[in-house]
Amino acid sequence: MDISSVFSQRLDRVRSALTSSGVDAALVSVGPDLPWLIGYEAMPLERLTMLVVPADGVPTLVIPGFEVARVTPHDELFTIDGWSETDDPIERVAELVGSSSRLSIGDHTWARFLVALQQRIPKASWVKGSEIIGALRQVKDDAEIASLQRAADGVDVVAAALQNGEIPLIGRTEAAVSADLGERIRAQGHAKVNFAIVASGPNTASPHHHPGDRVIQPNEVVLCDFGGVTAEPEGVPGYCSDITRMVHTGEPPVEFREAFDVLFDAQAKGVAAATVGTPAGEVDRAARDHLASEDLDQWFLHRLGHGIGVEAHEDPYLVEGNAAPLVAGNAFSIEPGFYIEGKWGARIEDIVVATVDGPRPLNRADHQLAIVEA
Ligand code: ZN
Ligand code: ZN
Ligand code: ZN
Repeated sequence: MDISSVFSQRLDRVRSALTSSGVDAALVSVGPDLPWLIGYEAMPLERLTMLVVPADGVPTLVIPGFEVARVTPHDELFTIDGWSETDDPIERVAELVGSSSRLSIGDHTWARFLVALQQRIPKASWVKGSEIIGALRQVKDDAEIASLQRAADGVDVVAAALQNGEIPLIGRTEAAVSADLGERIRAQGHAKVNFAIVASGPNTASPHHHPGDRVIQPNEVVLCDFGGVTAEPEGVPGYCSDITRMVHTGEPPVEFREAFDVLFDAQAKGVAAATVGTPAGEVDRAARDHLASEDLDQWFLHRLGHGIGVEAHEDPYLVEGNAAPLVAGNAFSIEPGFYIEGKWGARIEDIVVATVDGPRPLNRADHQLAIVEA
């Protein structure tokens, strides 16, 4: 399917979601909703870019005039309204929404624009864009799953290089290994690296450790969590990858090996539990209960996973208390871990898609603790 028909279907889905929620229009600015809808990523600047999508009409992209050239136009889908430096873009948006009384505003929209709109349209009530567009984005179509698979394949290649010792660790700083991972992620068809966490030794106990000057030693644990956004043609949104694998520089101590084996099984149990119809919180519970059976759950400091798509973290969140059942097309991470301060930590992460045939992991890189002597 060509990209214009993809965007056309998405705009239709947004219009019917607006209608069924009793919302008159969606206002979409910076952040991932806009590229998902029309392939354009707004510049995160003080000059307003905003797509106005009425529940029953043609959308208009209000954009600084000199940025119009950045947009891949789709005349069949939306109108472009470029404003000049002395125009008031808030007034343009207010005119476009007219007498609307209920509006959806993108979660990433700058507060200054929302405040200005609230002052200009005092009668309107507001709903979060994540409740309208986010709810649609979390159910991926086949093309999106294919993009997520390509993203996963790319980082799987990098994970394999890490596991087979192709990426030297001992004697290098975490930051140097992180930069190496980043280059390799780009070489595997990614336009952008979102993060490349490299944590060694006791630093593995910090889930979002910032790779720094610490030099990786022999006989210690190394956690690598990396991902980025796939490179796509101009005007086509990229999709995210996210994977965590564990390496030990030399034979691991028995105590770490035993804990890792419990984590390995917990991750598999989390994946197996991620079936259509299962509440998101119960998937978290399945992995957490297994860690609890070996007293490791007290060190599992975060939720089991997050949705992924054009955004690295999005709905659905696999977290205790989320009663929303998984639906076919949900894509999310399954990433249990344990983090023991001053000692060590570990995490294993895959991206998984819920399908009617059961959970489908997109990452196939070996899940075992890799022993690397380099
Ligand atoms: Zn994270
Ligand atoms: Zn990750
Ligand atoms: Zn993740």
